Amino acid sequence: MKLARNIIIALIAGIFVGLFLNLLAPGLFLKADAFLFKPLGTIFLHLMKMLVVPVVFVSIALGTIGIGDPKKLGRIGGKTIGFFLVTTAIALVIALSLGLLFKPGANGNFETSTAVYEANEAPPIADTLLGIIPTNPITAMAEGNMLQIIFFAALVGFGIAMLGKKVERVKVLFEQVNELIMYLITFVMKFAPYGAFGLIASAIGSQGFDALRAMGMYMSVVLGGLLIHSILVYGGAIALLGKRSPIWFFKNFFPAQVVAFSTSSSAATLPISLKTAQEKLKVPESISSFTQSLGATVNMDGTAIMQGAAVVFIAQAYHIDLSMGQLLTVVLTAVLASIGTAAVPGAGLIMLAMVLTAVGLPVEGIALVLGVDRLLDMVRTAVNITGDAACAVCVAQSEGVLGETGKNEVTTSTKTL
Ligand code: ASP
Repeated sequence: MKLARNIIIALIAGIFVGLFLNLLAPGLFLKADAFLFKPLGTIFLHLMKMLVVPVVFVSIALGTIGIGDPKKLGRIGGKTIGFFLVTTAIALVIALSLGLLFKPGANGNFETSTAVYEANEAPPIADTLLGIIPTNPITAMAEGNMLQIIFFAALVGFGIAMLGKKVERVKVLFEQVNELIMYLITFVMKFAPYGAFGLIASAIGSQGFDALRAMGMYMSVVLGGLLIHSILVYGGAIALLGKRSPIWFFKNFFPAQVVAFSTSSSAATLPISLKTAQEKLKVPESISSFTQSLGATVNMDGTAIMQGAAVVFIAQAYHIDLSMGQLLTVVLTAVLASIGTAAVPGAGLIMLAMVLTAVGLPVEGIALVLGVDRLLDMVRTAVNITGDAACAVCVAQSEGVLGETGKNEVTTSTKTL
């Protein structure tokens, strides 16, 4: 909690410094950004990303060893994917409803004729799904291909569980490496306030505030959708499925949300969100490692909300009426897009091109929302990882193991955040 407090102080300081320089000394901002803010942010991002592949590999392998039974593994996987799909679909319905209700793109003069946006080719979903099996696990790790690492780690864990005593020392090795990684996460997080300061000052300072004013309604719809989704869907799931108080959940998971907010990357936040869920929410590692690592890659409700709102906004700005069929297509494609979206800053916008194409809207429309996306990215990333943690709590509760950290599995470092 002390760390979370320090990060928040750093965020507020970063917002002030960024705003001040943006408005009063733009020239000084460029220098400060190049020599101070960006380097601070980059050091922190690199330190966090450095731990992602080891933490996912080791904790998923250990998680599978802890679960052991393939049937149980399948059940947990099924519940996790079910939770992800249902919550993402709800997220889209919320975003589309708010967009249709408040019409963010209807009142305002949005210059659509000069909008230019070069859409990158979105990777086909089939490739993402079939590509889960790595032909070379070392390449998968070198490239940070999360789904492939998860697949390989689960297989290794399964093998260790099946071989039992024969490979006991390999298991102990994994347990000890896990201790080491958890220690490194705690260590790296000491730098978090400085990193958060740099990232926020850089993001705020380079923001064009005129764009913000024109886009106020769109931003309100996205932020409103994110808030409603967090409170109703995650709060509701925690209360009904997790049998815990939503306040308990949000309070304990807060430190990870702050890191997601400052990094805008679910992947870079993964080490700290795993640690927070295991230590504070008491989700056993066996479940947390699976649900959250998978979720960081494929479950992005915050991104889906932005995409839903952006589709409606762009349609309205271009004076195009969306039919019921098109709205349904948005839900389907955006759920798929959220699976394919990389867990890095701005990735959601790239996948938006796919959703727009699917409903026949001009991809150039992305240029309209581009200017404010950096700020929305911070909030939606925090929502993205909250959904993964909420899922972990609910699955752990349904398996009757919520609060049983340490039993039948490795305890993580006892150091609290
Ligand atoms: N930045 C988001 C994440 O990492 C993805 C996005 O919506 O751009 O979760």
